[in-house]
Amino acid sequence: MVRSLDKYYGARILDRRDVSQDLCILHVDPGGPLEFRAGQYATLGIERDGVRTERAYSIVSSPYEDALEFFVELVPHGGLTPHLFQLKPGDTFLCRKIAKGRFLLDLSSGRRNHLLISTVTGIAPFVSYVRTLYRDWKNGAGPMPGEHQFFCLQGASHSFEFGYREELERLASEAPWFKYIPTVSRPRDEPQWTGETGRVDDLLRKYTDAWGLRPDNTTAYLCGHPKMIENSRGILQRARWKKDAILEEAYYQVTFKEAGGSA
Ligand SMILES: Cc1cc2nc3c(=O)[nH]c(=O)nc-3n(C[C@H](O)[C@H](O)[C@H](O)COP(=O)(O)OP(=O)(O)OC[C@H]3O[C@@H](n4cnc5c(N)ncnc54)[C@H](O)[C@@H]3O)c2cc1C
Repeated sequence: MVRSLDKYYGARILDRRDVSQDLCILHVDPGGPLEFRAGQYATLGIERDGVRTERAYSIVSSPYEDALEFFVELVPHGGLTPHLFQLKPGDTFLCRKIAKGRFLLDLSSGRRNHLLISTVTGIAPFVSYVRTLYRDWKNGAGPMPGEHQFFCLQGASHSFEFGYREELERLASEAPWFKYIPTVSRPRDEPQWTGETGRVDDLLRKYTDAWGLRPDNTTAYLCGHPKMIENSRGILQRARWKKDAILEEAYYQVTFKEAGGSA
């Protein structure tokens, strides 16, 4: 059977930055026009021995940029990432021609605060939002972000996993509408870390209070690790956030074993 590849571009790696042994940032030429909105994901894949393996990856870059950018974590026994991690500049892989996803900025509810909460690679769609907003702000384009404020919390075990910390801190120092707080959950491993400590969901109450974020004025966006999403959703709902004010992008499902079950 001849497979149709007309849904795919042959994408090419332009540049690769290894953030750690199991985190890398890829700049990619998708191989053709790929329209997307900040917050959407692309579907990347490889074909080996006639078997195609595809997964979703949030797009880090802004629609204003030419190259697509991805922040990828290696899952050691995963179907795709061990292969993606072997790719180097010039290598090609599959990229679906259509970007998808509804993890978009909420500009219709009337809530003007946006609380962006992520674990490690879950920062990807938030970088895309902020790069896009920053560019619009600099160009004086549109009503955004003038009346809107963005508050970003990112959690990781160690500070070397943040990936975009420098960029986000620089944007936060320039843009009065953006705040960024990274937090590490294993501070004992790095005594030089002077920032926030603890899991990102453990900081939610502290920062919603400090920033004056309430259910009636704030949309929350949760992205990355499914357990963080579940915990954060619980905390927000107990603080009276309604379902439609909490947007979620879980990167995978927690298996029975990971959830603490025994086989
Ligand atoms: C909308 C969307 C956007 C995504 N964006 C990103 C992104 O920007 N960057 C990124 O790295 N990933 C992202 N993912 C996850 C990505 O699609 C893959 O699931 C992930 O890269 C693992 O692929 P794999 O084929 O190597 O492992 P799989 O074969 O899919 O998974 C093997 C096992 O590992 C578990 N698993 C999957 N991912 C993880 C993980 N990160 N940590 C621990 N266990 C895991 C699975 O549940 C499964 O049990 C996104 C997922 C979705 C749904």
